Amino acid sequence: MSNIKLLDQNTINQIAAGEVIDRPASIVKELMENSIDAGADKISVEIKDGGTKLIRITDNGCGIDRDDIKTAFLRHATSKIKSVEDLMVVSSLGFRGEALSSIAAVCQVELITKTQDSFVGCKYTIEGGKEKGLEEIGAPDGTTFLVRNIFFNTPARRKFLKTPQTEAGYISEIVERIALSHPEIAINFINNGQPKLHTPGNGNLKDVIYNIYGREITNNLIEINEECEFAHLKGFIGKPLISKGNRTFENYFVNGRYIKSTILTKAIEEAFAPVMMQHKYPFTVLHLKINSDLLDVNVHPSKMELRFRNGKDLYPWIVEVLSEAIIEKPKIPQVKLTE
Ligand code: ADP
Ligand code: MG
Repeated sequence: MSNIKLLDQNTINQIAAGEVIDRPASIVKELMENSIDAGADKISVEIKDGGTKLIRITDNGCGIDRDDIKTAFLRHATSKIKSVEDLMVVSSLGFRGEALSSIAAVCQVELITKTQDSFVGCKYTIEGGKEKGLEEIGAPDGTTFLVRNIFFNTPARRKFLKTPQTEAGYISEIVERIALSHPEIAINFINNGQPKLHTPGNGNLKDVIYNIYGREITNNLIEINEECEFAHLKGFIGKPLISKGNRTFENYFVNGRYIKSTILTKAIEEAFAPVMMQHKYPFTVLHLKINSDLLDVNVHPSKMELRFRNGKDLYPWIVEVLSEAIIEKPKIPQVKLTE
């Protein structure tokens, strides 16, 4: 008798879902990134009980064609790449085709979507990987996802969730980062019926910084806008007086994507070192644009890590650009002429 059996698709999806979806905040991240990839310029995010009860994300993007809806929820189904070669030049935030199948494997999902070309919208329901129905429904152009009861079918994982307040905090961080990475998108965030963040979507990064961090920070910024042959660095850094005791103020984005990178963190901190007290970290919101063939974005499923192919050129350039901005040119002393 054989002991080895292939797992059924539902079990495979549940296991795989664990890699992409570990808490409500990862659902918010994946769905907001999908909205951005869909070309939305308005995204609204509403959560109840830290997103454990409900996450509702509405966008005015391209929508999903009725014929594509079921496929979109299959694992490795994506409209964003077709081959391994495309991975090298990928500019969309998603491309692995894992988010929708993962979310649907561990939540109760309702999707309402309409493309511009179709007369009516569609409503599709899927719970724990099982389809519940697809019907026509009146809807505006764009897409709404309602995601309820995360991990309803995996109680062991549900137990690992923190309090709704803590989970809401994680979501808030994600929404803020996405707002900072896309000032051209109007983002609205509501937590338990309370408006938490609203960005105008006018493309002005300083307005987004003001909406998130307030007046004191906004009044103490230094603007950065420098270009070299392989990169463009744009955004704001804070004057040393608005530094913080941890790294939560260090925001940087590469080609519109929030990432973690030891190279960038080190370069930023090296530039600030001469003016920073020990154990203090700078405020930065920096957008780095770099030729996508110098990047490898396919390092980790959550796509937070990134590899540079020109780290040794990039590092000194960033240190130089920031150092020059930080170290304010000494004012020429006013010499009083005595007669
Ligand atoms: P990926 O983003 O890696 O392609 P996902 O599982 O997140 O994979 O989404 C699968 C597909 O569903 C996407 O490639 C896209 O075609 C479609 N899709 C998902 N969300 C949206 C949305 N908000 N608007 C339009 N299309 C969407
Ligand atoms: Mg995606």
